[in-house]
Amino acid sequence: MANITNEFMGHDMLAPFTAGWQSDMEPLVIEKSEGSYVYDINGKKYLDTLSGLWCTTLGGSETRLVEAANKQLNTLPFYHSFWNRTTKPSLDLAKELLNMFTANKMAKVFFTNSGSEANDTQVKLVWYYNNALGRPQKKKIIARAKAYHGSTYISAGLSGLPPMHQKFDLPPPFVLHTECPHYWAYHLPGETEEEFSTRLANNLESLILKEGPETVAAFIAEPVLGAAGVILPPATYFDKVQAILRKHDILFIADEVVCGFGRLGTMFGSDKYNIKPDLVSVAKALSSGYMPIAAVLVSQKISSVILSESNKIGAFCHGFTYSGHPVACAVALEALKIYKERNITEVVNKISQKFQEGLKAFADSPIIGEIRGTGLALSTEFVDNKSPNDPFPYEWAVGTYFGTQCAKYGMLVSSTGDHVNMAPSFTLSLEELDELIRIYGKALKDTE
Ligand code: PLP
Repeated sequence: MANITNEFMGHDMLAPFTAGWQSDMEPLVIEKSEGSYVYDINGKKYLDTLSGLWCTTLGGSETRLVEAANKQLNTLPFYHSFWNRTTKPSLDLAKELLNMFTANKMAKVFFTNSGSEANDTQVKLVWYYNNALGRPQKKKIIARAKAYHGSTYISAGLSGLPPMHQKFDLPPPFVLHTECPHYWAYHLPGETEEEFSTRLANNLESLILKEGPETVAAFIAEPVLGAAGVILPPATYFDKVQAILRKHDILFIADEVVCGFGRLGTMFGSDKYNIKPDLVSVAKALSSGYMPIAAVLVSQKISSVILSESNKIGAFCHGFTYSGHPVACAVALEALKIYKERNITEVVNKISQKFQEGLKAFADSPIIGEIRGTGLALSTEFVDNKSPNDPFPYEWAVGTYFGTQCAKYGMLVSSTGDHVNMAPSFTLSLEELDELIRIYGKALKDTE
């Protein structure tokens, strides 16, 4: 970024999702946050349209979360949750999460520190469950192309992004991928959304039959694919997929890491798309990003089998030192309290219409293929000739250039290749939204 200079050029971090050439350049060093904005070390102010990384839903200066952390730090900064010892914030948070998730009845909560750990835990739970039921061959997990489920061994394997597999010897053999349900990109000429969904569901069933349903344990999906570029499920997709999974006794894992807690205008993505998952992963907005915490919600059907099996063989030997960290749980509890008090889905729905309409008005730009989104999540896909079949050459870095121009004008977006994501904090005011749309338009003009 041309107008930023700092002493961290060629810094010492091996940074996540960063290329060597990028680390050699000056990093953007963020120092402070305030509402929907962040400031860099030179004092430059940016409207943060990605709420950190889809997490600071309550903005960057929610004092109630800071107070909740302080209070817990002053009372009990840490105690673990192993061997049936635990802390009150973790017990209270588990209860609150079970109350909040109503798309399907969940019975137990397992805490982790990140969405990746949550999804790794999901796979281990599913395996433990099937081993306990005496069907050790039912182990394969079906995920979807373009999905993002995290970065640990299993969750990176579940992710359907080839660069996350290359050079890492991934995906592991127990992970299978089915098609990405992106209607605009992959529908056949003349095919309706419903017909597209039927075709994908049939292909999913063919994959299950080819592998043998007795070998397939679970299907994992984000209700809306987030990192892939806010890809919404086409009409009837999840109804059809769920019918097939039920037919073959395959569990549904809903990865709600970005969709959960109001982002789509409903409390969870499962509510919006009538998904009845057996297992759910939540993270990010769970604490509004103020503390690292994530959780797995487990239905009765699965938790009862796991607990009775552990009675036979000893303990349920899975967990992390910081599972249910009391400070993270206290902050998350306060975040959930705020979501309820402020009726957070209403807050999102009030502003999201203008957010969606204001940005979709740029859809005619010659370099935009599709602008898509729902709630406070939106992605712009840059292509040539307005066609999904004509991506711009990688070296042109159109999305990156657009992101750089946005930053120049004081706004941060994700900029990874040909699509640019926006998922602002729910604190975004109408004036800030006007600013967001104005900067987007300016940066787009520069990019065209
Ligand atoms: N699942 C989804 C849908 C995500 O978007 C992410 C992160 O962006 C993860 C899982 C991984 O979460 P974490 O980065 O906390 O490990």
